Amino acid sequence: MRYQDPLKINCEKCGSTDSYPVKALLSLTAKCFNCGNSLEKHGLEMREFILENNAYISTVEFILEIESKLNIEFSDEEADSIETIKDLLSLATSKNNESKDITQLIIFNALQALGYDTLPDSGTKLKSLFLHDRKPGNWVRVD
Ligand SMILES: [Zn+2]
Repeated sequence: MRYQDPLKINCEKCGSTDSYPVKALLSLTAKCFNCGNSLEKHGLEMREFILENNAYISTVEFILEIESKLNIEFSDEEADSIETIKDLLSLATSKNNESKDITQLIIFNALQALGYDTLPDSGTKLKSLFLHDRKPGNWVRVD
């Protein structure tokens, strides 16, 4: 995803609308051209949206990776129903010929590749694994 750049922002303090560089908004340095009010709130909302969006995409990619590793296929409905590690494990186990332990190991190996040393709690939401804090300097790329 990509924001229109520059992006039109309406200042809530003075009501004026101007176009601001996305980079300045995401680095929380943008100030209203008219009154000098900090536009940080808009930048934080944009960051939140980007994080959520990226986490969603990463979750979908992770589920695809598990399908591929286990040589199984989830229907769209099934994939949409997967929220937690437990959901993924039980659905994947029901689809392949491996035991639950082997299936869990394969999921764990895929998570290790993402930097997890221990298997997260089975109730952990998959999306939360991909919601990372990022430094302001990393906010230049928004695609
Ligand atoms: Zn203003």
